[in-house]
Amino acid sequence: MTACLTCTRDTTGRLCGTCTLRLGQHLADLPAMYTALSAYLRPSSQVPDRLGTAPAGPDAPLPVDLDVLDLIAPGGVVTVLETWRQALHEDAGLPWPSPWGDQAGRLRRAALGLRDHLAYIQLDWLAAGDLAREVAQLHRAAARHIAPTDRPTLVGRHPANPGSTEACGGRLEMPYGGVIVRCARCGTEWGQLQWLALRRRLEQTRTDDRSAA
Ligand SMILES: [Zn+2]
Ligand SMILES: [Zn+2]
Repeated sequence: MTACLTCTRDTTGRLCGTCTLRLGQHLADLPAMYTALSAYLRPSSQVPDRLGTAPAGPDAPLPVDLDVLDLIAPGGVVTVLETWRQALHEDAGLPWPSPWGDQAGRLRRAALGLRDHLAYIQLDWLAAGDLAREVAQLHRAAARHIAPTDRPTLVGRHPANPGSTEACGGRLEMPYGGVIVRCARCGTEWGQLQWLALRRRLEQTRTDDRSAA
């Protein structure tokens, strides 16, 4: 057993199963995120707007975001993944296919090329931890611009209501900028003070669980 290069959990390879799955998912997500980010810089484009907001008209001023430009410009996510793929091919003794085509195509091929070797990455590649961390960073940076930041925050799981022994177990969500916590399963809502009381109960339960364990 060795420690996962990302999370230090025990593993028989370089990365644990969870970190490998996450890396694979991030690599699978990045090409579509790239397309969405490119669209973000072209308000008049016909590409569906994943932000869920009304697209700005062609005459609207273009709010150019430097972070986004860094991500999609040459040297951004395409170059980073191609560089990793090249390093992987060198270490694994595989021929290195020169990049070709437009940026979106190059990113698709680089991401797919890395995913094709996830087993090697997980089991053998010493650079696996650095790769996983850098890909996670890119994914986070891209998600900041694509995934609406107004997604509700998961604040806990709905325990049993007073007078009931059965826990609901639904996700307790706090809307972005909101103060009312709501259970996504049964719809129960908690105002600020009620939520504070419930949170104390949740924390108490966790502490009890730990001391009982
Ligand atoms: Zn791990
Ligand atoms: Zn509930």
